[in-house]
Amino acid sequence: MSLKEYRAKRNFTISSEPAGDAEPKSNQKRALLFVVQKHRATQLHYDFRLELNGTLLSWAVPKGPSTDPSVKRLAMQVEDHPIEYANFEGVIPEGEYGGGTVMVWDTGKWTPEVQNAEEGLRKGDLKFTLQGKKLKGSWVLVRTRGFGSKADKSWLLIKHKDEFASKKDIIADEPRSVLSHKLLADIARDNDGNVEKAATGDPISKPEKAAPAAKKKRRKQ
Ligand code: MN
Repeated sequence: MSLKEYRAKRNFTISSEPAGDAEPKSNQKRALLFVVQKHRATQLHYDFRLELNGTLLSWAVPKGPSTDPSVKRLAMQVEDHPIEYANFEGVIPEGEYGGGTVMVWDTGKWTPEVQNAEEGLRKGDLKFTLQGKKLKGSWVLVRTRGFGSKADKSWLLIKHKDEFASKKDIIADEPRSVLSHKLLADIARDNDGNVEKAATGDPISKPEKAAPAAKKKRRKQ
């Protein structure tokens, strides 16, 4: 677990993302944290992060998690992030690494369902339980076959069958931040971000969409 790659990709004098502690320290007495951040970067994706040994193991999930056990969601492992990143909601300046709007879409505690989470990760099969505000119950991350340089980075995130499994589309039905209750466009607006770009990650039926058209009409009169 190292934040070297994380730090090398970012300029903390420009981006308000946390640099992280100099030495990631494990704290076994604290419950393990998980967070899912909705990130409207070049492509909209959901960053799925599990605390382990003082950092956040991270996967980018293009379509976001699904509560339907028959649906497997691709999860590309990315660099470990600092623990403090779990609270980061805001805007990464355009032109910087991951430039765009970030929302804390879900957070809570996670528990490995195996004796040794690190061994599970090494073997490419990590079963765990989530106690989030949106995501709950039993899940698994399984390593799958990837391509070229990403061969060992490709995983699938899958819901196990339990009382929290559901056919409902949690991504579409619960689009708001669990920290602020904001949509992506609200977060962008409040942090001098690109509101139009952020809004493309929000549900289409939101009232903000109607506002610019109405303004235009009035100007013509
Ligand atoms: Mn991301």
